[in-house]
Amino acid sequence: MTDTLRRGGCGCGAVRYEIAGAPVALAVCHCRECQRQSGSAFGMSLIVKKESFRVSGDTKVYRRIADSGNPIDCHFCPTCGVRVFHDPQALPGTYNVKAGTLDDTAWLAPGVQVWTKSKQPWLTLPEGLVSVEGQP
Ligand SMILES: [Zn+2]
Ligand SMILES: [Zn+2]
Repeated sequence: MTDTLRRGGCGCGAVRYEIAGAPVALAVCHCRECQRQSGSAFGMSLIVKKESFRVSGDTKVYRRIADSGNPIDCHFCPTCGVRVFHDPQALPGTYNVKAGTLDDTAWLAPGVQVWTKSKQPWLTLPEGLVSVEGQP
């Protein structure tokens, strides 16, 4: 991934962000929590270094305890409720940006998928993805 400036935000525009450096990776997560949170088949996490991420507008934080026991601080817009990014306490150097909130999503290409044991059975993703059955 290149280090083009990328922008995104919530649904109502109160929360906006910029990613200045090259993202680390794009992960697709089929866990039940990502399915519930997105209301869809899977979650998409764009892993970015904290120093390359800048957010404007106030977020509300919901702290969730992952199956691993580690807390994840989930930032969402208090007005429209869109989940914008996660701050996993076990990985202090990175944020997981909810990739569907980017203004331009056309360049996204996942490199890894996790929690495939709860993947929707009708869903076929490209071959060659690194796949993990459960918690990576
Ligand atoms: Zn909003
Ligand atoms: Zn997940």
